[in-house]
Amino acid sequence: MSRRALVTGITGQDGAYLARLLLERGYEVYGAYRRSASVNLWRLDELGVTRDVKLVPFDLIELSNIQRTLEKVRPDEVYNLAAQSFVGLSFEQPLYTADIDGLAPLRILESLRTLGAGTRFYQASTSEMFGKVREIPQRETTPFHPRSPYGVAKLHGHWITVNYRESYGMYACSGILFNHESPLRGIEFVTRKITSALARIRHGQQDCLELGNLDAKRDWGFAGDYVEAMHAMLQRDEAEDFVVASGETHAVSEFVERAAEACGFDLAFEGEDEARRGIDRRSGRTIVRVNPEFYRPAEVDLLIGDPSAAHAKLGWRPRIGFPELVELMVKSDLDRVAAGRPLL
Ligand code: NAP
Ligand code: GDP
Repeated sequence: MSRRALVTGITGQDGAYLARLLLERGYEVYGAYRRSASVNLWRLDELGVTRDVKLVPFDLIELSNIQRTLEKVRPDEVYNLAAQSFVGLSFEQPLYTADIDGLAPLRILESLRTLGAGTRFYQASTSEMFGKVREIPQRETTPFHPRSPYGVAKLHGHWITVNYRESYGMYACSGILFNHESPLRGIEFVTRKITSALARIRHGQQDCLELGNLDAKRDWGFAGDYVEAMHAMLQRDEAEDFVVASGETHAVSEFVERAAEACGFDLAFEGEDEARRGIDRRSGRTIVRVNPEFYRPAEVDLLIGDPSAAHAKLGWRPRIGFPELVELMVKSDLDRVAAGRPLL
């Protein structure tokens, strides 16, 4: 009989890639989605898996709904990917973020404990928990110092997962994933904001791209690679938490430069701080500006992960590196704009 997985956050970037991977591996995939006037299935559609996923309505805020869903589906594996995942918004909606990202994993764990069916649990933790980093690179043993309500809430999700494993012997583990991107990334995140805006500028549909802190550095990988690590974490004899990262770091400005090149611009930055701007040397036009509106009240300046435990114990290796990732995202957005498709 095929194994049964329940994936929360099925309509998100990782939900779509994970659903495809699990289907390829013969799983029966239940996709937990948040009911709304128009459910957003475009990512599952793009990967061609919408019809193969069994959609179940599910809201992380509602314990009774979580309990009933788990009783009905009785999954072998639960991947908790659902979250308010945008750091910027967490400063505007800190209480909501605390509930969805911090308390909801506990609702699921407690429901699984009561169910007592031996379900394996994966929690989507994040490098944002390292925040103001205490060590370079960051590894499983690096102390945490989150810098946003998002990071703080996710830290609760992380520790409660560890606690349920240690207290009740549950197979529960937490993947500390560094930023991972793709053509399916939400448009508010900096990578996709850059590639979608440059594609529009290329096609004459936008004048300029406005960004916040260009100096922040991130360890960016490809989401399609990272979901493989999630799955591998639930296939071991014993549950353990892993850092999943590329092991490289790049500044936001570097992402912009590479993306601009892939779009056919010849970009040069000039000026300092808020006066910094990116000029296309071919046309002389300013196509990138800094807008302090996009600065955050507290910033995570540098993230770089050490994935050596994931390499050694999960046999996990990413296939797509930084230059290929940027090109993949730029090409996809250029194609979307050229075809007149909406940039979602
Ligand atoms: P995403 O694209 O923003 O997807 C988030 C998903 O959560 C969406 O399906 C969303 O549904 C769902 N959701 C939000 N609130 C919900 C609620 N109250 N009840 C049920 N579902 C709800 O995020 P992602 O990039 O795929 O990331 C997946 C997970 O990994 C998240 O937990 C994120 O915090 C974490 N993470 C991501 C990264 C990264 O770089 N991508 C790195 C580390 C950790 P709607 O479609 O209805 O909004
Ligand atoms: P995060 O690492 O989860 O916060 O992912 P984001 O893609 O939202 O942000 C990555 C980095 O890009 C952060 O340091 C942001 O401050 C920086 N950044 C600079 N300009 C922007 C912008 O316009 N939008 C976003 N989302 N981030 C920006």
